Amino acid sequence: MRRMLVAGNWKMHGLAADIAAIAEIAHAAGDNPQSDVALCLPATLIERAARAVPGFAIGGQDVHPAPKGAHTGCVSSAMLLDAGASLTIVGHSERREAQGETDANVRAKAEAALAARLGVILCIGESDAVRESGQAITTVTAQLDASLPGSVTADRFAIAYEPIWAIGTGKVPSVADIEEMHAALRLRLMAAFGDEGDRIRILYGGSVKASNAAEIFAVADVDGALVGGASLAAADFIPIIQATR
Ligand code: 13P
Repeated sequence: MRRMLVAGNWKMHGLAADIAAIAEIAHAAGDNPQSDVALCLPATLIERAARAVPGFAIGGQDVHPAPKGAHTGCVSSAMLLDAGASLTIVGHSERREAQGETDANVRAKAEAALAARLGVILCIGESDAVRESGQAITTVTAQLDASLPGSVTADRFAIAYEPIWAIGTGKVPSVADIEEMHAALRLRLMAAFGDEGDRIRILYGGSVKASNAAEIFAVADVDGALVGGASLAAADFIPIIQATR
């Protein structure tokens, strides 16, 4: 039985004034021990948040594969850990698209983060054009195969299936489409990691909100959510956490 994970991705949002919202979300996480909750914050806010809510899982949104060096603007796994993060997102479509990240880059990031003992949420998902062409399953499973680290343990590794056309648009795939994709991803994880692949959580992301969370969480092989816009305000995010009950 997999425990649900509800992770918020704050993207490029969040200032010191938002610590109160983070504290409220952390408090709600304590009231909902049935699932795991995390917030992936901009790097500038991680240390402040980690100090404000000790014991609550704070994550980064990206990490560089190298331990240190001449990489202007980048953050290493050791830096994330040093700031108080316990996990990081890698391979978000906004980085794959805007920063030109390849599956090989994403895999290197995931391997570096896991080696440093950070948790990893690895994102994959298809574009609108790929979905329309009927190639969603083939494309996303190939992306998964090419992005997967060589070895993982389910307690520190999760997948987030995020169809690009569903991110920030209010559009959500049908329950049948989510189920079909998550089942295909489960098969690939089990092919790669055997029984451990059955324990890895597969999150759904893309326009998750309080009004659709319970329906999405009821889908087979959906083990939680990666939430963007609706994670920014405690009043929007807490009902999504509660929907895992
Ligand atoms: P939205 O929930 O805003 O659609 O964003 C999803 C996402 O990209 C989370 O990583």
